[in-house]
Amino acid sequence: MQFKNMDISIIVPLYNEAESLPHLYEWIARVMKENKFSYEIIFVNDGSIDNSWEVISELSELSRQHSDGAVRGICFRRNYGKSAALYHGFKAAQGDVVITMDADLQDSPDEIPELYRMIQEEGYDLVSGWKQKRYDNALTKNLPSKLFNATARYVTGIQLHDMNCGLKAYRNEVVKNIEVFSEMHRYIPYLAKNAGFTKIGEKVVQHRKREFGSSKFGINRFVNGYLDLMTLWFLNKFGKQPMHFFGLVGSLMFAIGFIAVVVVGGMKLYALSNHVSAMLVGVNPYFHIAILMMILGCMLFLAGFLAELVIRNSPSRNDYLVREEIK
Ligand code: UDP
Ligand code: MG
Repeated sequence: MQFKNMDISIIVPLYNEAESLPHLYEWIARVMKENKFSYEIIFVNDGSIDNSWEVISELSELSRQHSDGAVRGICFRRNYGKSAALYHGFKAAQGDVVITMDADLQDSPDEIPELYRMIQEEGYDLVSGWKQKRYDNALTKNLPSKLFNATARYVTGIQLHDMNCGLKAYRNEVVKNIEVFSEMHRYIPYLAKNAGFTKIGEKVVQHRKREFGSSKFGINRFVNGYLDLMTLWFLNKFGKQPMHFFGLVGSLMFAIGFIAVVVVGGMKLYALSNHVSAMLVGVNPYFHIAILMMILGCMLFLAGFLAELVIRNSPSRNDYLVREEIK
């Protein structure tokens, strides 16, 4: 079913959530009907091994009886992860406002009308949910999540309490101009900010206990999440000019090593000229540390050159987002 100026696309990434899907669909359809939105729900089945895809097919059939909304589905051959699912959902979304939500009924569709209003009337590029009162395990989720969010706020400069909340709303233009990759779904607001979409808001949303199935992410999410944050920070700062990083650190190390070698050699010469006994340069530990610094400095410098060569061949080396043009 195709709509002109569809109001909302709801993207639901899912992995083994068959039991939740009919409830989620009913709930979304009810909210959409009450608010008279035209909409599509895009279920992205991330390689589920239960019967999620059969359920999605049935829901799609069911949705044909309604004229206001369609159920679409994308089915991966295997499990690629939530980021991949969102990436495909974003590519397919046609609505003016794009909503993402988890499939496990932990996010409430009742929040959608207000999120829509914030994007359309208050002009936000992105509104992120904030699960102020969470119904997850306190020790494995809630506490580490607070620490994670504090770090993310510090590194990204985006003042969100719950960066990784599954329930978010975007202006269509935003999702078409960012690329979620690897496991970067945790940092979509940062991706949006780096792409120039800086009006990022937050809305306190209801959160519910998982009714069916189990959580798909373990405690290792925090280790991976921290490493991914470092990657994004580096890509944003030096992604287009890696030599500015490697060249600087390499030069500094080389300079320190070089000065140290000169000092070690100078001291030896001074000792020789004054007929004072001094240890052989070759057994002086400072000499070895200095040489190591020089070698590492050269290697970092070379890594910078190689990174520049890689970027020179990258098709995205001249990707800039133009907002407007006067011709
Ligand atoms: N999910 C997915 N692919 C995966 C893991 C999870 O599409 O590889 C989906 C999952 O089905 C759910 C959402 O991502 O709809 C959030 O996952 P989960 O509820 O397990 O995360 P939690 O709420 O525990 O943080
Ligand atoms: Mg969940």
